[in-house]
Amino acid sequence: MRILIVEDEPELSGRLKKTLEEQKYAVDCAFDGEEALDRLADMPYDLVILDIMLPKLDGFGVLREAHTMGVDSPVLMLTARTDTDDKIKGLDSGADDYLTKPFSTDELLARVRAILRRKGGQNDSLLRAGGVSLDTVSREARINGAKVDLTQREFLILEFLMYNKNRAVTRFSLAEHVWGDDFEPFSMSNFMDVHIKNLRKKISGSDGESVIKTIRGVGYIIKDGQE
Ligand code: CA
Repeated sequence: MRILIVEDEPELSGRLKKTLEEQKYAVDCAFDGEEALDRLADMPYDLVILDIMLPKLDGFGVLREAHTMGVDSPVLMLTARTDTDDKIKGLDSGADDYLTKPFSTDELLARVRAILRRKGGQNDSLLRAGGVSLDTVSREARINGAKVDLTQREFLILEFLMYNKNRAVTRFSLAEHVWGDDFEPFSMSNFMDVHIKNLRKKISGSDGESVIKTIRGVGYIIKDGQE
């Protein structure tokens, strides 16, 4: 899952990014309304956290333009105001929920999970393949029912591969999804090999075989069933 944070206060933006990354989400940041639209045109996001007061184009403007562009990512609006008019305006413009500043980390994460759960539906949040199950909302991975501790990158790699189950995923698209802004083609290859190796070790079944298969020269695939 990839989340876009649109917030012009660097300190708050950094804090939100850290909090969400700890929950194993992939996170990009935009610091004004125009940058937000560039990002949204570039990549599909599972959620947008959108401040109202922004330079260049405010949150309402971003919502309006995003809608015109056909972006259908769910939106959590942030407002510094207690003005109910703003909240109503936000929800009327297509935001899914709003949060008034200041808010606690727990409150933010609860809202994020609620929106993602509503968006995906209760059952769709659980991905399964070959004894591995991954809950995209609670951010937990299990192998044969037992919880596995994964790092943020490992979780994102597994989530992306399972989301694309039975389809080959290229190394490039995997890197782009998992590393986003930190994507550096030259150093990426080794990093990815190490993460995949560690991930395979953690999720290998009792037969010692991993569900993640390498497709030489292309990338990886997770296949379900007997194949
Ligand atoms: Ca602001």
